[in-house]
Parts: sequence; structure tokens; C-alpha cells
Amino acid sequence: MTDQATIDRLRTEEIASQGLFIGGKQQAAEAGGTFDVISPIDGSRLTTVADAGASDVDRAVRSARKAFDKGAWSRAAPTERKKVMHRIANLIEKHALELAVLGVRDNGTEIAMALKAEPGSCADTFRYYAEAIDKVCGEIAPTVENVLGLVHREPVGVVGAIVPWNFPLMIGAWKVAPALAAGNSVVLKPAETASLTLLRLAELCAEAGLPEGVFNVVTGRGAVAGEALGLHMDVDVLAFTGSGGVGRRLLEYSARSNLKRVYLELGGKSPNIVFADAPDLDRAARVAAFGIFRNSGQVCVAGSRLLVEHSIHEAFAERVAAIATKIKVGDPLDMATEAGAINSAEQLTKTLSHVDRAVSEGARLKTGGERILEETGGFYMTPTVFDAVSPDMTLACEEVFGPVLAVMPFNDEAEAIRIANATTYGLASAVWTANLSRAHRMVREIRAGVVHVNTYGGADVTVPLGGVKQSGNGHDKSLHALDKYTDLKTAWISLS
Ligand code: NAD
Repeated sequence: MTDQATIDRLRTEEIASQGLFIGGKQQAAEAGGTFDVISPIDGSRLTTVADAGASDVDRAVRSARKAFDKGAWSRAAPTERKKVMHRIANLIEKHALELAVLGVRDNGTEIAMALKAEPGSCADTFRYYAEAIDKVCGEIAPTVENVLGLVHREPVGVVGAIVPWNFPLMIGAWKVAPALAAGNSVVLKPAETASLTLLRLAELCAEAGLPEGVFNVVTGRGAVAGEALGLHMDVDVLAFTGSGGVGRRLLEYSARSNLKRVYLELGGKSPNIVFADAPDLDRAARVAAFGIFRNSGQVCVAGSRLLVEHSIHEAFAERVAAIATKIKVGDPLDMATEAGAINSAEQLTKTLSHVDRAVSEGARLKTGGERILEETGGFYMTPTVFDAVSPDMTLACEEVFGPVLAVMPFNDEAEAIRIANATTYGLASAVWTANLSRAHRMVREIRAGVVHVNTYGGADVTVPLGGVKQSGNGHDKSLHALDKYTDLKTAWISLS
């Protein structure tokens, strides 16, 4: 049991001003710039972080390259790297509550979820890739007899990682852990509104014995520090999670600089499809509600389109709306809270404007749609359910990234597939049915990186996460993620 009293103590702790983490220690930005960290819990100023300019990013990349060339990490024995990665995981676990509270103060996720999704999955991810280090190896090709064809797997060099504000530790670890496991150096740029836990992770990595310069964190603005990392001539791979708009820019940066490989994990408009023969409609309704409303909808794989078979549509939409009205929204540091804050005032405004637009386009508002708890100074919103959403409405097409669900009826399997795939996105999806053949048909027909069957979410580090269409390319998690951070090199050796 997590102790609420400890959380309440940790939430009042002073947070020192944070520098950039370069070369194993915190350093100020060259131009001395900083920006305020605003807590979405109550709008208060938590601390300041350094505002990196292009010269700071260059310093971090040079530090990463120097460490890579030196070889203390890139050429260390696999068993040594494995030990350090396990020590990192141990330290994350040791400081789990502290990290979770720090992250929630920064980005507003409800603490019960943050504990599992942030330090919990971050530590799991470090352990998973630690274990891969001495198990994933190269190949001997089946050549003719007088030749030996060896396929080496080599680290790419310097990896630039740019991550969003939702689940910074989890998503950061999905990039940093496999990149480090493969022997690379990393420069990570957190989102403006979620830097603190990643800076703390860098300190824990140093404490665990990761050599200096191997993992650097540059805080700053996307259009400045992010752009500088994207355009840097000495970054070999860019691994990104965030919006499609920024993803497009990164591809341009690559084209304008050194053709670095760019891997994109982008947004979604994921269909959650409920057939009348679903095994347990009560459970399906509960999971559908939390599939969109946990973390107040700020989840890339959120099931934001609920497709319901016509015969049960009215009753099911009613059930989901009833659950939505009972969700406990509020103080993210209360263990009983089920949906925390919206990350920033800007994101709240954007989400509310989606509500207005859906109303003006004729969708039926069943519940929610309002800012609440304004007196706290924080950014909160009621879980919102729209019914009678047609596939051409903005709410059916654009990612909101907030607690807004679009319910859409369908008549048969073919129509469900048509509506599910009528999107530029292809990240997640789900199908609820007791019919095994139909479940398999839907898995085959839905164009998405993941198709859940009779559940939503919860996929762990052992399976890949990636999008198709405009939800991205490449995969985080699983052994497949190592492909992004390794190059294949052939040695073709004459034996004659
Ligand atoms: P965002 O694209 O606005 O920002 C993401 C990161 O990019 C931040 O660090 C930001 O500072 C940086 N950035 C912004 N402008 C930049 C520029 N011009 N050059 C370089 N970097 C720049 O996204 P966000 O609002 O932080 O996160 C929400 C988005 O992330 C949603 O679309 C969500 O679906 C997506 N997301 C996807 C996944 C996934 O695994 N597919 C996971 C989580 C979030």
C-alpha cells in the first residue's frame, strides 16, 4: 500500500532550479536562460529549468560523441553494461515514490497510475534491455564453403531522443534503455512541461555508474533545442514521440542536415469496437471508459472513438456516460483520484475548443464538456462523452489528446471495419466479441499497430508499440526496438 502521508510530505518539498545534464553533471545554459515549471495541479510555479540554446545542444552532442568514441560504455563488456543497467533499475525502484510524485507535480497524471506507468514501467524497461545485452547477437550467413559471412550488430553512435509530456519516464525509457543497451550515447530533450523526472533519471544513471557523457538531458523549447538536435550533423538517429506536426519537421531536419534516421511515434484516433456479442458488456463499458479517461485522455493509445453495434448502441453509450460522470477527477496526488489534471492551460483550452466544435458540428453531448475546479488554479476537465458522432465530424478525425470520447454506431462487421480504418492514424484499436473467428478477422482487417481483443491497454515491454499510416514508423519496446539503435555490418571473409 502506498502511504498517502508520504505523498503529502513529498508534494511540499522544494525543488531546486535545474540545469542541463551534460557530461555527468548539471550545467547552466550558456546564455543563462531558464523557464518556469508550472504545476498543472494548482498553476503554481514549482521551479525553473535551463532553457537550452543551439550551443548547449551542440555541447551535449559533443559530450555524447566523445563518450562514444572513448568506449567506456560503447566497448564495455556486455556483462558490465548489463550490471549498470540493472543498477539503474534498482535505483529507479528505490526512488519510485519520489519520482512518481515529482512527475505528477510536473505533469498532472493521477498518482495511482503514475506509480505504475512511470517509475514502475521505467524500471521494467531498463531490466528488460539489460537482460537483452548478452543475449542478442550477430549472425553467420549460410555462404558457400570458402567464405565466411559475419553479420555484426553495432551501435549507431549518438542517439537524439525527443519525448512528449505524457509519461516522460516510461516513454523516455522506451528510447534510452534500448539505445544504451546497444552501446550508444544519448542526448534526450524532454517536453517543456515535463522535464523534472528525466533530469532525475540522468542523476540516477550517473549514480549507477553510467560513464559521463553517455546520457545527457537538455531541457528547452522544441523550436530551439529540439530543432538544434534535429538539425545536428553529428546525431545518427533521432527517436521521437509526439505530434505529427513536429514529426514532419523532424523529417525535414534530417533532409536538411545529415540524413539521420528518424523514428516517429505519433498520435492516434483509436477505434474501440464493441459488438453485441461481447462476453461481458459491463466490463467492456468500464474498460472503454478508462481506455479514454485515464490520465484525462492524454494517452497516445486512448480509445477515443467508441464504435458500438447498432442493437446495443443506445444502452451501451448510456452505460459509458454513467461511468464517466462518476469518475473522480481532481487532485492528482490523492491516491483515490481516477483522472488527474490536464497538462497545461494551453492544452485545456485546446481540448475545450474541440468540445465547442463538436457541438457546433451536431454531435450530441451526453455528459461533461466543462472546465472544473478552476478555484484550485489547476487545469481540470470533466470526462466528456459525445454520441451521434459521424465519421466526417472533426471529433471523429482529429486527435484531441484530452478526456473526450466520440461514440459512433455501426450496423455490421464490414461497416465497423470501414469506420475504424477511415482515419489518417493507425496506432491502437480494440474489438470486443465472443466470436473467435470474428476477432481474428478484425485483427487482420484493422490497420493499427495494436489490436486489443476483449481488453484495452496494458501491453507490456515484451511487445512492440508502433503506428502505421500517420501514427508513425518503427517500434518502441520489445527486442525489435533494438533495430533502431543498431547498424548491421557485414564482414565477408575469404577462407581460400
Ligand atoms: P509535441 O509534438 O508538441 O512535442 C513533443 C516534443 O517535441 C516535445 O519535447 C517538444 O518540445 C518537441 N518539439 C516541439 N516542437 C519542436 C520542433 N520544432 N523541433 C523539434 N522538437 C520539437 O507533442 P506533445 O504535445 O508533447 O505530446 C502529445 C502528442 O504526442 C500527441 O499527439 C500524442 O498522441 C503523442 N504521443 C504519441 C505516443 C506514441 O507512442 N505513439 C506516446 C505519447 C504521446
